Amino acid sequence: MTTPDLATPAGDGCHSAADLDRAARSAGQSELLDQYARDYPQGPHDKPQSMCPAFGSLRVGLRMKRVATVLSGSACCVYGLTFVSHFYGARRSVGYVPFDSESLVTGKLFEDIREAVHKLADPDRFDAIVVTNLCVPTASGVPLRLLPDEIDGVRIVGIDVPGFGIPTHAEAKDVLAGAMLNYARREIEAGPVAAPEGGVSDLPTVTLLGEMFPADPMMIGAMLAPMGLAAGPVVPCREWRELYSALDCGAVAAIHPFYTAAVREFQAAGRPIVGSAPVGHDGTAAWLAGIGEAFGLHADKVADAQNAFLPAIRGALDAAPIKGRITLSGYEGSELLVARLLIESGADVPYVGTACAKSPWSQADAEWLRARGVTVTFRASLEDDLAAMEGLRPDLAIGTTPVVQKAKAMGIPALYFTNLISARPLMGPAGAGSLAEVVNAAIDNKPRMDRMKAFFEGVGEGDTAGVWEGAPNLRPDFRALNLKKLEKKARAAQAEQMI
Ligand code: SF4
Repeated sequence: MTTPDLATPAGDGCHSAADLDRAARSAGQSELLDQYARDYPQGPHDKPQSMCPAFGSLRVGLRMKRVATVLSGSACCVYGLTFVSHFYGARRSVGYVPFDSESLVTGKLFEDIREAVHKLADPDRFDAIVVTNLCVPTASGVPLRLLPDEIDGVRIVGIDVPGFGIPTHAEAKDVLAGAMLNYARREIEAGPVAAPEGGVSDLPTVTLLGEMFPADPMMIGAMLAPMGLAAGPVVPCREWRELYSALDCGAVAAIHPFYTAAVREFQAAGRPIVGSAPVGHDGTAAWLAGIGEAFGLHADKVADAQNAFLPAIRGALDAAPIKGRITLSGYEGSELLVARLLIESGADVPYVGTACAKSPWSQADAEWLRARGVTVTFRASLEDDLAAMEGLRPDLAIGTTPVVQKAKAMGIPALYFTNLISARPLMGPAGAGSLAEVVNAAIDNKPRMDRMKAFFEGVGEGDTAGVWEGAPNLRPDFRALNLKKLEKKARAAQAEQMI
């Protein structure tokens, strides 16, 4: 274990990705980082532009029954992560093993983590303990793989979730889901495992990859029934035993397309993967056909399912039309699916940006959208999303917080993707009309946005915003000086890299 040369305990954290990457590699983490680079290819941006990625994996662990979570990282990062998890109603303690320069340098931090895990490993309370290295411990090479695999029957799962290797919190969910599936797969290979509390299905099942609106798995189950199939568990799972039935499926539906590590485990278990999702008319028709193919079903069976649901979907789409131009961006992984639904509802969607990378499981969606003239940008940066919104001047911008903020400042109606769009049913007939109400109401808000813009006109922007007694005290000379300092620092860092 080596100590990164970091100026502060967090080493500028999210802003010093290159330094931390170098430190991690010299601490023996190259293999791990190379795997992450293959699983979660980066570019154009190489660091998170939204919340700390570790929030994704933290939330997955916190939502599981009988699973304890321990973080190892800088106090400021852990404070932020626990704050956000409680804001989102975790109702569960987050364990923390603090460190200082000394415990990091001497390796005592690893001993502290091991001790904490031993103290926590009570089989009456927990099935598993997830230990997560954040940026600095990952960069220092704190070797979580050396923790015991299990203590008194409590499984220990150690993961590294550095912001300099995992670009989005969505992909961090995959890191934990993949690690848990890997553990469960090895348990299955070693011998019989317990059945989930909810029992197992008599029908062949389709495991669903990706967090969805609670009604969506039920809707998918209904659409699978005419083919003699059932919906299996949703991964990330809510209890450890569900991992076994998730692996025991006939096929996996990669509803969210960024679960590369999880897909690797399913493929290792010999399960076929079906991309895209049953959204809208065309999406549902193609997805049911894909599922039929994965199970080797007769075309009649697939046609039964299609005939049972496609007319209802068409009817729901026609009954709830959307008129207007919409730009769409987000980091949930379901952006392309939502865009399909909007277009089938009648909307003009010229741009879709997703913070997630391109994957084989979203290829059909990207092709469908591009065939309809949509610009689809994978690994879209905030700058891409803003430029699209500013250039296209939509009737509605659906996006992340900074996109929505900017749109509203321009008087463009806007909706948060995460809170308002991905918290709705999207699949099958239930999803077909579900977006129209919220989207049309937002578009109709344009006169209100115009009134607000006119009302606030002239109050200043950026650092001159607000109420001033005199003229804002602008110091362009200070700004120029600061800019020079930053440029000099960047040049020095570049020169250092060349050495
Ligand atoms: S752990 Fe998260 S908040 Fe902390 S430095 Fe890394 S990316 Fe930033």
